[in-house]
Amino acid sequence: MLKTILVDDERPALRVLKRILEQYDYIDIVGEYTDVFEAIERIRNDWIDTIFLDVDMPKMKGVDAANKILKINNMIDIIFVTAYNNYAVDAFEFGATDYIMKPISKKRLDKTMQRILEKHTVKRTIDKLSVEAKTDYLTGLYNRRFMLEKIDGIIKYKNKNQCFSLIISDIDYFKRVNDIYGHNCGDFVIKSVSKLMLEIIRKEDILVRWGGEEFVIILPNTNLKETKIVAEKIRKEIENYKIHYDSFDFSITMTFGIASYDQEKAIEEIIDNADKALNEGKAKGKNCVVVANT
Ligand code: GH3
Ligand code: MG
Ligand code: MG
Repeated sequence: MLKTILVDDERPALRVLKRILEQYDYIDIVGEYTDVFEAIERIRNDWIDTIFLDVDMPKMKGVDAANKILKINNMIDIIFVTAYNNYAVDAFEFGATDYIMKPISKKRLDKTMQRILEKHTVKRTIDKLSVEAKTDYLTGLYNRRFMLEKIDGIIKYKNKNQCFSLIISDIDYFKRVNDIYGHNCGDFVIKSVSKLMLEIIRKEDILVRWGGEEFVIILPNTNLKETKIVAEKIRKEIENYKIHYDSFDFSITMTFGIASYDQEKAIEEIIDNADKALNEGKAKGKNCVVVANT
């Protein structure tokens, strides 16, 4: 459904427009305005897909209104409704998607709506692809690619002199889980671990599925000492968590490596340090938290 509003200073014109647009079942008319300022206010407060905008209004010219509207929502489709032929060119110049003439021809409007629908389909596909590109299909968590893109944002933290820490964790003896209980059960364990971690971390922390059974947590504005407490809490909760899958009951453990931002270091180095700490923990016998020595 396209959330649509209509603007015309003349009520009869609004009625005509509404009657024609009601023939399209994907158009949802959520507002009719004779006052363009009220329409602009609506766009400021609500997501609107499409606006039919009268070009010739006393309070504000349609093109000026379009300019204001696009500043608020640059994804909106504006369709100018005009009695003047010469607005045909201007409509596109002022950022409108299309224009229609009064009196409105249904055939012409069909073309306009076709164009808008196509635009929306393309946009929805792009949205879907970009969500998929940064999410992990199994857990719904952000994936490694997303995290590496996020690094730009993290570097901005650095510049603002704010601190952040990073936890890398890996499930211990995960190959055994797959071997003994099967791959589907392994998948279930990965999902359970991600849910448990999400419950423990704060809203501002970012949980990423880094690889197979490896997770990264980015903790903004958190120093090494605080991070160690968080990692230790997650470690204990995982250890105590009872996994039930089919007729199986078992527990797992995880090993954690943590590192903090350092003004002298590049982000890759921080990840590397946390990873080294994780490996140290594995070598020490697993199920522990190791702080990177910097
Ligand atoms: P360690 O204690 O040292 O961490 O060893 P590990 O047994 O956990 O083994 P390792 O980390 O080397 O290997 C992880 C295994 O996880 C290998 C791979 O088959 C399995 N794996 C990776 N991704 C998935 C997944 O999405 N689902 C399942 N079920 N298994 C996966
Ligand atoms: Mg492992
Ligand atoms: Mg691993």
